Amino acid sequence: MITLTVQELMDVTQATLVGDKSLASLSVTELVTDSRIFDCNETEHAGTAFLALKGANFDAQRFVPQVVAQGCKVVVVAKAESALAQANVAQLVVVDTRIALGEIAAYVKQQVAPKTVGITGSSGKTTVKEMVAAILSRLGNVLATLGNFNNDIGVPLTLLRLNNSHDFAVIEMGANHMGEIAYTTGLVKPDVAVINNIAAAHLEGFGDLCGVARAKGEIFSGLGDNGVALYNQDTKYTNKWQWRLEGKTTRTFSCVNQADCYSSDVSLDELGCADFTLHTHQGNCQIKLNIPGKHNVCNAVAAASIALEFGASLEDIRLGLAKMQPVKGRLNLHQLASRVKLIDDSYNANLESAKAAAQLLSSYPGKTILILGDMGELGSEARSYHQEVGEFAQQLDIEHLLTLGVLSQSASDGFNANNDLAKGQHFNQRDCLLKALFSLLNSVLENTEQEVAILVKGSRSAHMEKVAQAIITWF
Ligand code: ATP
Ligand code: UDP
Ligand code: MG
Repeated sequence: MITLTVQELMDVTQATLVGDKSLASLSVTELVTDSRIFDCNETEHAGTAFLALKGANFDAQRFVPQVVAQGCKVVVVAKAESALAQANVAQLVVVDTRIALGEIAAYVKQQVAPKTVGITGSSGKTTVKEMVAAILSRLGNVLATLGNFNNDIGVPLTLLRLNNSHDFAVIEMGANHMGEIAYTTGLVKPDVAVINNIAAAHLEGFGDLCGVARAKGEIFSGLGDNGVALYNQDTKYTNKWQWRLEGKTTRTFSCVNQADCYSSDVSLDELGCADFTLHTHQGNCQIKLNIPGKHNVCNAVAAASIALEFGASLEDIRLGLAKMQPVKGRLNLHQLASRVKLIDDSYNANLESAKAAAQLLSSYPGKTILILGDMGELGSEARSYHQEVGEFAQQLDIEHLLTLGVLSQSASDGFNANNDLAKGQHFNQRDCLLKALFSLLNSVLENTEQEVAILVKGSRSAHMEKVAQAIITWF
């Protein structure tokens, strides 16, 4: 973070100072929301302020006396601790600490003023973010969202990490309810705002796909007069945000048709990694990705469109994308034995990403085994979405579908419907699924010369990474 004075924090959050007025001149070099940080080493935290948030489990206000005892000199709270009124500590009392966090984060962003992109969409946000960061790091110092810090707390925490060395900020913005992106985009104030795609994810918070599109469209409300709106031309429901784009510079990208930036001539190598021609207003160039999946062509085109807005050359794009490393749990390719591949895509799942994963799996030679856990937050139509994935996998000629959980029973049912020979099996217990899988693998490896590709996928809540890990351990 940049250094701020207590006075600046007060001005930004309209806080009342409880404590000696001279404390207003204290410098704050870090703002944290987790008291456990003070457990590490008191002296290192001389300039660390604590902001107390209320979460599902804790009201962090209760940790205020403790952090003060550990040497914290500045706290941002909803209620002053009377026992600390005489202590040498600045208590900044605000109406709502979550809002104060956002106000401070927006102020930090405004002070550092990096060139900023905000990325939203149903799938691929983290992937596009990593791609953009890989390209822009050739042009300057990039701050990108860590992991998945993409909600109304994660976005401000990300902005707080900015300091004056940063030239670019690449901010992932997710949502599970209406208004969340309107809020975060107001803090981020991106120069470029991007909608990567619209698909059935977090439907419980949005009702239907129109709701998802409206919610993602909120990102454009954060664009200033010189901002650029970028969106995937192929996605449905783009009409839900057109009204927000009046008077704004708008560009499109596509991995299907011609657009301002688009791909053509896609081919996949034996690992499923794409090679394609990128078409831009600067000309064309040949791109080779080192992460598998045809859908990553769409992500790469999105990333290239963003990078072009910030002055990247085609060479920056080509070299940046080539060095981009896979993100953990997203289509991570493991060669387990000479003829067995595991694709660990256990990080998360929704309808579109499950279909994209199935598509990738079907492109591998030999025996294909899809292992699917439940896809969460899909609302009242959840069962039919699972069924759809099962039917889709069957149409792709995936040979085995092993499902785990409750909802994914419908995926096995969909897989087996209309095909008496289909090998869809459902399991309630992970151990039972693994036992069946290992016996299948033993039989294939002993009795055939076939190659085997196994893809593991499911929502965060399904913890399918445990299945992936068990498979890796078995080999
Ligand atoms: P989250 O909402 O969890 O933050 P995200 O939008 O950041 O997700 P990623 O983490 O990049 O998305 O990818 C999640 C999964 O979605 C990947 O494992 C991949 O299978 C799939 N995926 C990524 N990009 C696309 C895309 N453009 N179309 C369809 N599926 C995709
Ligand atoms: N918190 C803390 N110390 C603890 C436990 C929690 O400061 O020992 C903070 C935590 O960082 C968060 C807030 O209390 O900012 C609410 O925590 P909770 O677990 O309820 O919410 P979550 O982090 O899941 O949003
Ligand atoms: Mg993400």
